[in-house]
Amino acid sequence: MLQAWLLVVAIALLSTAGPARAVEPLRLAGERAIPLNDVIAYRHDVYASDGATDAFAQARAGRLSPLPGGSPNFGFQKGAYWFYLPLVNMQRDEPRWLLVQQYALSDQLDVYLRYPDGHVEHHASGDHVPFNSRYIRYRHPNFRLDLPHGEQVELLVRVQSQSSMQVPLVLYTPRTFTEVMRDAQFSTGLYYGIVLALLFYNLVLWLMLRDSGYFWYLLHTGAFGLVLFTLNGYGFEYFWPNSAWLADASVPLSICLALIGMQLFTRSFLELQERWPRGNLVSLGVTGFFVVLGIASFWLPYGTATPLASRAVLVSVVWIMVATVVMLRRGYKPAKLLLLAWSLFLAGTTAFTLLAFGVVPPNFWTLNGVQIGSALEMLLLSLALGSRYAGLRNENIRIVTENNERLERSVIDRTRQLRTAMAQLGEANVQLREYSQRDPLTGVYNRRHFREALSQALELRGTNGQPVALLLLDLDHFKRINDTHGHLVGDDCLNVAARCIEDVVQPRGGIVARFGGEEFVAVLPGLDAQQALQVAEAVRLRIQQTPVDNEGRNIRLSASIGVHTATGERATPEDAIRLADEALYRAKDDGRNCVRHSVSLV
Ligand code: GH3
Ligand code: MG
Ligand code: MG
Repeated sequence: MLQAWLLVVAIALLSTAGPARAVEPLRLAGERAIPLNDVIAYRHDVYASDGATDAFAQARAGRLSPLPGGSPNFGFQKGAYWFYLPLVNMQRDEPRWLLVQQYALSDQLDVYLRYPDGHVEHHASGDHVPFNSRYIRYRHPNFRLDLPHGEQVELLVRVQSQSSMQVPLVLYTPRTFTEVMRDAQFSTGLYYGIVLALLFYNLVLWLMLRDSGYFWYLLHTGAFGLVLFTLNGYGFEYFWPNSAWLADASVPLSICLALIGMQLFTRSFLELQERWPRGNLVSLGVTGFFVVLGIASFWLPYGTATPLASRAVLVSVVWIMVATVVMLRRGYKPAKLLLLAWSLFLAGTTAFTLLAFGVVPPNFWTLNGVQIGSALEMLLLSLALGSRYAGLRNENIRIVTENNERLERSVIDRTRQLRTAMAQLGEANVQLREYSQRDPLTGVYNRRHFREALSQALELRGTNGQPVALLLLDLDHFKRINDTHGHLVGDDCLNVAARCIEDVVQPRGGIVARFGGEEFVAVLPGLDAQQALQVAEAVRLRIQQTPVDNEGRNIRLSASIGVHTATGERATPEDAIRLADEALYRAKDDGRNCVRHSVSLV
């Protein structure tokens, strides 16, 4: 009891001396969001051993300091941080205020409000406390502060977290909060809308084209979307509102996934495996590192995995820029769009980082630098994939067209050659047939062809009823010519005789053949016996009157001719030849150099 009294006295003493001197109370007025960075005081409770009462006491004793450089970012820290600020609400019509920590990843936040009557109110939040216990179901931890008009209320905030110690506290009236959030939600919706559309679009492309580049793009874009989703507190809000473990592990895990996707996308896009094997090895090495880190982040403490992953991001992005520039300098054109995409991504991230260091002022572009940069990067990467795919397709079309043209040309060539060969073959065939029908010595038809011609003429006779005349001719005493002048001269004589017969017979539509030795035949369709005899007589005369020149000396030839005119319906070639032959015999018997018919016409 005594101790309790002593404590009350001590607090009363401290309260008279403390807060007014140490931390000026903040007077809340106006309709704007009020960041507390410049006015709030803090203390690092290294062993996280203090309770709220101790902390209030410390604050009143003036043992807290202003934020270093007005920045609420302390990096990865052990223990707990206490923040203290007395508030006086000057707005008569607004007793309710909203305290928001604009950083989503803190594990545990405790807010204490101490009223003039001495009672203390406590609220807890952070991603180790179920999401549903938040005052407003919103991605950032938030607390309702009831601040009676004109009264001083002490605000005490305790933060403990494995994540980076970032405590950007902002006070809103419900109305300003609604207005600010409207714009923020709109741009966030826009960003994830773009990401989703790109994901869906490229998923369809991947399913249709099966180009691995699209798959790595999906992984990169999806995982990067997840990184921002997680960092911004949406992961905890929508995906794992009750899992403190996932809230922690998702950060290094999604970073690793995004970088694996980024590395493998770049590797596939730049075709490093074929175009730059060494660069390919580096890419695979970096990828391997993130695979190992990603798996390890299931066990590693958050405070180890996340800073490691965040630092490795820089190495990874620098390597990707190097690879892209190298490939560009090697003349690989698709790398241009890639370079632009990474540059935009870097620019956005740099703007955001510069903002964090206070180098650039906060505005739409710097605040949303990462989102804008990455959205443009994803758009450009998708475009780059499309253009690379179009390039590959055009190249394919060119090759196919070229091959087709070459094929067509060679087909035309071959066809021409084939046609020529066929024509030559045809000619050769004609010639061959001609040769096979001709007697080699005299050039008149041979006996086989004569046989066919005679058969045809007799068959035709059967249909048109016209007679067919057959002349069988034998040169007289030819053996003697051979014996006297030699066989070569004999051959000349055979040739001269053949020409004489042709000259007479061919104009009358007949054909001449060598029957054998010094014997010739002529077939004359359409000639009756009288006409046949006239032709035979003309032949005989022609032979007789055509001397053969042998070295200035004339050799006289004569021939005996047997004639038969086939008029019967069923005359056979054998009959016709036999009858003509008999007539020839008679001519020979009658003294040679004369014409006889198979039937006596006198
Ligand atoms: P005939 O008046 O009775 O017909 O007497 P011939 O001497 O003409 O008759 P034969 O049948 O006794 O003789 C035919 C000769 O024709 C015999 C052969 O040497 C000659 N002969 C046959 N074929 C050829 C040839 O291709 N060239 C030459 N130079 N002579 C040939
Ligand atoms: Mg003979
Ligand atoms: Mg003879």
